[in-house]
Amino acid sequence: MSFHVHNSLTRRLEPFASLEPGVVRMYNCGPTVYNRPHVGNYRAFLFADTLRRWLEYRGYRVEQVMNITDVGHLTDDGDEGEDKLEKQAKKEKLDPWEISRKVAAQFFADLGALGVTPAKAYPKASEHIPEMVEIIEGLLAKGHAYEAHGNVYFDVKSFPSYGKLSGNRVDELDAGARIAVREDKRNPEDFALWKSDPAHIMKWDTRFGPHGFPGWHIECSAMARKHLGDRLDIHTGGEDNIFPHHECEIAQTESFTGQPFASYWMHSKFLQVDGGKMSKSLGNTYTLDDVAAKSYTPRQLRFALIRGHYRAPLNFTWDAMKDAASSLENLDDLVLRLRRAAKGEGAADAQAGMELVVAARREFEAGMDDDLNVSRALPGLSGLRAAALEGKFGAAAAEQALAFVADANRVLGCIAVDEELLPADIEALIERRQAARKARDFKESDRIRDELLAKGIVLEDTPKGVVWRKK
Ligand code: AMP
Ligand code: ZN
Repeated sequence: MSFHVHNSLTRRLEPFASLEPGVVRMYNCGPTVYNRPHVGNYRAFLFADTLRRWLEYRGYRVEQVMNITDVGHLTDDGDEGEDKLEKQAKKEKLDPWEISRKVAAQFFADLGALGVTPAKAYPKASEHIPEMVEIIEGLLAKGHAYEAHGNVYFDVKSFPSYGKLSGNRVDELDAGARIAVREDKRNPEDFALWKSDPAHIMKWDTRFGPHGFPGWHIECSAMARKHLGDRLDIHTGGEDNIFPHHECEIAQTESFTGQPFASYWMHSKFLQVDGGKMSKSLGNTYTLDDVAAKSYTPRQLRFALIRGHYRAPLNFTWDAMKDAASSLENLDDLVLRLRRAAKGEGAADAQAGMELVVAARREFEAGMDDDLNVSRALPGLSGLRAAALEGKFGAAAAEQALAFVADANRVLGCIAVDEELLPADIEALIERRQAARKARDFKESDRIRDELLAKGIVLEDTPKGVVWRKK
């Protein structure tokens, strides 16, 4: 089977084909930078990273763009409520621009720690106002939008297929439920492209008025177009982005360009806590620091978040983290055993086990081709470990197996294939010492250094960061 993906637009599994042979243009909805992203957000971002890595494994060049939302995302995800950044700014008594800079920096540090392959661009909404205004003007000219007191609304009745992604139909959308009725809207379902509010802090002077700011949806339409062009192969987000965000993006972009926007819409399921949604507004979130405080490394977290199918429910618990950490340790151990076998410590016949490697690769690829089903792909690797434990590999087969594990890890990005391996507990201690130093808790950081020394690990702080060696 070639690579198949579940397309939210058709609700079917479809063979993947890019518009331009060999190149994939992919846009991922990124974080709203009012608060450090939580591990739930990282489920969505790591799904995008795994997708990108799998496309590369399959030989595509991937042009990937993930946006940073720094203005216009209101607390109700629609046209009502406070701007999330301005609300947080008031709470922290900071300038919203300061919040956005601070949180974006944390986000990039987290991406680095999680081993995410950098996208081609991380555009910020506030830096794309002219591109948004250009689309809005085009929509006004074509009669898809209208102005009312400095606000500009999209007329959903001008786009007959509005609702094709979410399945919501205009005549069924309950005015007043998800959609606030406003006097200046022609239809209650119309959504804002541009809003006017003299009290808004982050605002722009345009011909619509002196105190304007963009609607959240137009931001992504404009950034995708600027960095990837009028048509995309893939657009991703978390399941909550389907409506209204992506439905509105489709309406705007397709009305403006007259062409289909993205060929494939892919949405990852939410990460849950105790069976409910993990979200900043519910206050049940965990950050990478919380994970480090429990002595888990970002690498282990990455594995915990990607090892299931992105469309399957995933509940975040410390037991699940423990389980993921121990499965990952087994995969690290596979590498060690294969290295020994490759040195001739395994089966006498160098070719022994070759067919197992072929089967493992086939299983891994079949799982990933099946809509990125990592949980169907991983048994390919764990099966190899079972065989390695039984000493089934000769030197040549072990070399082949190592090459396969390295390829698989270019997609998974969390098996320790390159470095000399440290047991997970030592790695976790090093992480914790780093966190203590960052928090300027030097007493704790010295204590951990001594604990490591007792375990035979010497740490050295160099200008390039911390390096370790065995005593
Ligand atoms: P936000 O910062 O709220 O704009 O969200 C950024 C991305 O994270 C979006 O694609 C959301 O769909 C996604 N997201 C938010 N909460 C969760 C969660 N609990 N699990 C998975 N993805 C989430
Ligand atoms: Zn978006």
